[in-house]
Amino acid sequence: MNLNIPKKIERMLQKINSAGYEAYIVGGCVRDCFLKRQPQDWDITTSAEPEQIKKIFNRTYDTGLQHGTVTVSWEGEHYEVTTYRIEGKYDDCRHPNNVTFTKSLKEDLQRRDFTINAIAYHPQEGIKDYFSGQKHIEQKIIKGVGNAAERFQEDALRMLRALRFSAQIGFDIEQKTYEALQQQKGLIKKISVERIRDELEKMLLSEHIEKINLLWQSGLLNEISPMLSEKMEQYGEQVIKQIKKAPFDRMIIWTIFLQYMTAEQGEAFLKYLKFDNNTVKTVVMLLKHLKDDIALEEYELRKKANEMTTEQLNRLLLIQEIQQRQNIKQLRDCFDKILQRGDCITLKELTVTGEDLIKTGMVKGKEIGTMLHFLLDVVHRNPEKNTKEILLQCAKEKQK
Ligand code: ATP
Ligand code: MG
Repeated sequence: MNLNIPKKIERMLQKINSAGYEAYIVGGCVRDCFLKRQPQDWDITTSAEPEQIKKIFNRTYDTGLQHGTVTVSWEGEHYEVTTYRIEGKYDDCRHPNNVTFTKSLKEDLQRRDFTINAIAYHPQEGIKDYFSGQKHIEQKIIKGVGNAAERFQEDALRMLRALRFSAQIGFDIEQKTYEALQQQKGLIKKISVERIRDELEKMLLSEHIEKINLLWQSGLLNEISPMLSEKMEQYGEQVIKQIKKAPFDRMIIWTIFLQYMTAEQGEAFLKYLKFDNNTVKTVVMLLKHLKDDIALEEYELRKKANEMTTEQLNRLLLIQEIQQRQNIKQLRDCFDKILQRGDCITLKELTVTGEDLIKTGMVKGKEIGTMLHFLLDVVHRNPEKNTKEILLQCAKEKQK
């Protein structure tokens, strides 16, 4: 079987071979080739040790020497080249106590998480598949390599990875592997929140989002957030339907996912997962406004866009559209017209600045800000009044 991998990767494998070592592409990229999906990256596994790889290639970076990984710059791209390795015992459910290099490809494949991720390929040597990965790809199942319960005990993140792959490629989790996941779910608490967060996000942005119901059905979500899990058990189906209709926008998708939490609960959850400030701020704002009944008036929309920013109001309308809220089509048309005309929304677009007001004799201080907001409100009501002449006149009258 020929997997038709890019020629430059073939050349890279051959370069390692010419130096006297074995080299294969492995893991996600091989799985994705079988699935006719574009691989994210091409990982290479080799019998050469890092120091030997560094001698073979001109440009390399020490990215993970302790795990046997060297990043190689080759024909304009970067590739991770990792020495065949065996992992020692895991005492913390996260990291092996030690790793040792091996000359056996089979041993390297054996340490990998799922059979579909444990296939290696070389254009001349063919496919190396010691754990029936190809069969499981055909059967569309995710199955642990060896004893699934033990594999989850070694590294509990693999449980979330199983669910994530299921959501990404639409496969079911093989029964024994799923049972092991249900048994070991409590171990997820040993995993850092950042890694949990990244897996959850990948899951939420997946093509087969319907598979995400396993997250709560398995009991795993209950270990991460009992409250969210409870909401999903009740409303999960609706949430999945809505995410299916959503644009590919992580803020919108997180908001839909957390919609049955209050804004405060959503905020606590996102902060617990150590999300960046911008994500927390944006999703919390959307959660706060989610239930808003926006009046079908241009003035209200301009005011709201100023309050939330145009970008966030746009997202809010997109979510309300998915939720088929009343008047949503008209609101959308109305907002689109406002944007097309380029109506003034924020103080930035107001034709009068604080400086202008000072020039008319107003004293520096709080009053300037108050006056600018008054003028912005005038313009929100009547966009055509956004000229210096009219607004300075308005300011004058207001001061009388
Ligand atoms: P993606 O498309 O997300 O990159 P991937 O399968 O390539 O998926 P990576 O995290 O890039 O996943 O890992 C590359 C390979 O390393 C996997 O295919 C798997 O063989 C192995 N691997 C990664 N993480 C683990 C883990 N936690 N336990 C065992 N093997 C793992
Ligand atoms: Mg990968």
